This record gives sequence, C-alpha cells and structure tokens, in this order.
Amino acid sequence: MKILLTSTSFQDTPGKHQDVLKSTGFDVDYLRGPVKSDVLLPLIGQYDAIICGDDEYTREVLQKGKSGKLKVISKYGIGLDKIDLEAASDLGIKVVRCKGVNHITVSEHILALLFSFYKNIPEEIHYTRNGEWKRLIGHEIFRKRIGIIGLGRIGQELAKRCKALGMDVYGYDPYVKKQDIAIIDVTICPDIESLVSNSEIISLNVPLTKETSRLINKELIEKSINQGTVIVNTARGGLVDEDAIMNGVDDGTLAGYLTDVLDEEPMKTNHPFRNYSNIFITPHIGSRTYQSVERQGTMAVNNLIHEL
Ligand code: NAD
Repeated sequence: MKILLTSTSFQDTPGKHQDVLKSTGFDVDYLRGPVKSDVLLPLIGQYDAIICGDDEYTREVLQKGKSGKLKVISKYGIGLDKIDLEAASDLGIKVVRCKGVNHITVSEHILALLFSFYKNIPEEIHYTRNGEWKRLIGHEIFRKRIGIIGLGRIGQELAKRCKALGMDVYGYDPYVKKQDIAIIDVTICPDIESLVSNSEIISLNVPLTKETSRLINKELIEKSINQGTVIVNTARGGLVDEDAIMNGVDDGTLAGYLTDVLDEEPMKTNHPFRNYSNIFITPHIGSRTYQSVERQGTMAVNNLIHEL
C-alpha cells in the first residue's frame, strides 16, 4: 500500500501515532500541507490512500486519484470543507475523519485567546521584553456573556469551561439534539440575531458549509452585534467576511477579533489584519498539542486501516 501523508502536525510531533503508522508497513510519502490542487493533480494517482490536513481535494483531483489507485482519504482532523464530498461519493472514494479527539484542546485554545486579550498578555510580554514596566488594566471574564454558535463537540466543551468560570453562556445550534446539551446550562437562542444581541463575546464553532459561509457579515455586524463585542474564531476563516470584520473593528462595534483561522492559509505576508493591534491571529494551532496530535494521528491511521 502506498500512502501520502500531508499533515504537518502529524509529521512534526513525536508520539504513539508515529509507531502506529510504522507498524502498518505502508510505503509512506510525505508532503507539507496544506497542499494545493495543482500540486496534487500530477501525483495523486499513485497512492492507495491519503492522510491529509486541509489540502484541496477538488473534483478534478479526486477524478485523477480514482483513475489511479485512490480508495480512501483519511482526514487528520474534523473539518471536511476542503474536500469535494459530492465528488468523492460519486467516485466511490471513502472519506473518513477524526471525531472526538481535539475538542478539549480547541476549547482550551479559545480560552487562551480570550484571557490573552482581556489581560493584554501579548502586549505586556512585548513591553517587558523591551525592558519596560508598563502596567495596563485588563478585564475579568467572570460574568461576561458568551454566545456560542455551534454546540457540537468543541462548543459543548467550551460551554462547560465557561460555566465553570462564572460566565453567562448562550448557544445557537438548530441541529444539535436537545438530549446532547441537556447537562450543560446554556440559554438556547432561536436564531443568530438573538444570540449575538445577547452576547459580549461570540465564539464560532460550526463547520464551514454553504449555509455558514460568511455567517459573520456586514449586515449582522451593523444591525445586531453589540458595541464592543469580541469574536473568537477557531473554526474556519470562511465563516466571516474579513472586510466586514475590519470595518467593525474600525468603528468600534468589535473590540477584538481573535482568530486561529484565515480565509487563505498560510497567511499572506501583507494581510491587512496584521495592522490591527486588537486582531489576534494564531496560525491554525487550535488542535496542535502533544496530547491532541497523538490522539488525532492514531485515529487517522486506524480510520484508514479500517477503510482499506
Ligand atoms: P462538530 O461537528 O462536533 O460540531 C459542529 C456543530 O455545528 C454541530 O453541533 C452542528 O449542529 C452545528 N452547526 C452546523 N451548522 C450550523 C449552523 N448553520 N448554525 C449553528 N450551528 C450549526 O464539530 P467540532 O468538533 O465542534 O468542530 C467545529 C469546527 O471547528 C470544525 O468543523 C472545524 O472546521 C473547526 N476545527 C478547527 C480546529 C483548529 O485547529 N482550529 C480544530 C478542530 C475543529
């Protein structure tokens, strides 16, 4: 079996997942993702299966794979927005992903971004590195109202942690089963508008789909989002209109935009977000912890073995 592995988290992190992959005896080639479709096209046909990050699996790429040996795409992670799932299904290529292995890590990342922002941590470290003793005043997150869009695995973990911190938690998810969120004390909102109008912080925890694309847009920011709101996005860049975010920050509707994801990754060096001191960007590391990578990597290999 010939396998292509493109996830850099998998490749760069030591752990049990490396032994599990080795024990399969597969012949493994490595590329450093996210890999664009034009790079995949000439080589995909030689592989039986792929363990991937957020590479571009367009219909054309999948057709090329199918005309060769490709049978399985094992997504290292949960979001499948870069894979043309309809094409994969038409062509009989199986697509599997890693459920339930990174939600704790990502929910911790959301809190890390929030605490960093409200206590001015990056700025203060910058000052002390420069030998300055400049003492800014921060905010507690205790009693802040957080609205979580998407009450799936990450959204629920976040909700539990926010309750433990004494925050008021609101949620919007028209698809989640009531019994799945029964134990979490979340005030459910009937629509996005009511969720954002109740919130001082908004966390995006939905997949990127046709329905959720540009969920945070100019109209929502102008009409419904409260003055001084902080948005945290650890899901996907395409959930927001980046221009509308900058306008919202410029006019003060948004006090901050804390994001782990961008419309285009890796970030372009001239990305305008870089000019904003109250836009925080981390380079898609929400699920990159030793613990989570080991769990995800092991599951990605096991999922692949199961499907081959
Ligand atoms: P999940 O599938 O467990 O939960 C997603 C939830 O979103 C579901 O409950 C679903 O009902 C809800 N949803 C779907 N459409 C919605 C809509 N229009 N409005 C409101 N809710 C809607 O997924 P998860 O594990 O919680 O992950 C969420 C997303 O986070 C993933 O799709 C992925 O894109 C992203 N993610 C990012 C990282 C990272 O490294 N930054 C890591 C893991 C996941």
